[in-house]
Amino acid sequence: MQSKKIENTEIANNGGDMAEIALALAKQQQSGQMLNKDLLPSKGKFYQNDIFVKKLSTIDIKNLATLTSDTMDGVINGILSHCVHGVNVNDILVGDKFWLIFYLRNLTYNDYPFAVKYKCENCKKSGMYKMTMKDVIVTYLKDDFSTSYTMDNGDEIEIGFPTVGNEVSQNQILKEPEKYIPSGEVDDSLLNIACYIKAINGKNISIARAYDYIINLDALSFTNFSNYMVDIDFGIKPYIEIDCECTNKVNVPLSLTPEYFMPKIKNEKE
Ligand SMILES: [Zn+2]
Repeated sequence: MQSKKIENTEIANNGGDMAEIALALAKQQQSGQMLNKDLLPSKGKFYQNDIFVKKLSTIDIKNLATLTSDTMDGVINGILSHCVHGVNVNDILVGDKFWLIFYLRNLTYNDYPFAVKYKCENCKKSGMYKMTMKDVIVTYLKDDFSTSYTMDNGDEIEIGFPTVGNEVSQNQILKEPEKYIPSGEVDDSLLNIACYIKAINGKNISIARAYDYIINLDALSFTNFSNYMVDIDFGIKPYIEIDCECTNKVNVPLSLTPEYFMPKIKNEKE
């Protein structure tokens, strides 16, 4: 009886170890490879944990290849939550969001070049450029960035960069402004600026409250604050720059096309 008891315990232990190994393996496969956070437009300064990225799944690719303006936010946020681990999707900064989408596409296809057509306005030559991840132009968060800013009117502002979660709230306000904004009307770009204000004179405020603050701001404070925000913001540029033979730089818009997410990769066996 006694030996059987030990045997049972051993089996239980072995089983436990196996289960743990299987779990660790599954977790590793699920969480993918560690991302070098320095590559992010934010340089990862606002993410405390390590971030892991994994390749796009067939469902993700299908969703990206059939994007419309209506489905865009939902699809992109869904993909970020499948493929980026170590940070909650709602805490991903808007400035990092599209960089991550391009990064995931290139991780999935080993940076397979994407053919971009261009026409140079200077020498009138048109051509085809093979775009890779290195062509995505990144504006990084400045190293000496401080979260506190003093308005010309003397108010102390605590700056925070908008997250995917803030963006969801912002879209709710845009959809039904009468629910959140006393006047019932909302200006898209002013609301966008409001999303960068986390606290005023030490008091945390909501986006709707920050919007109210922005629309009632004096001209000088507003202008200086807007210019400051443009200066410190980070993200990717909505275009790539192609060097033409004539030394002119041709700007081509960066777009999320089906061909980008489902490239026609030649099979070497064919
Ligand atoms: Zn040219």
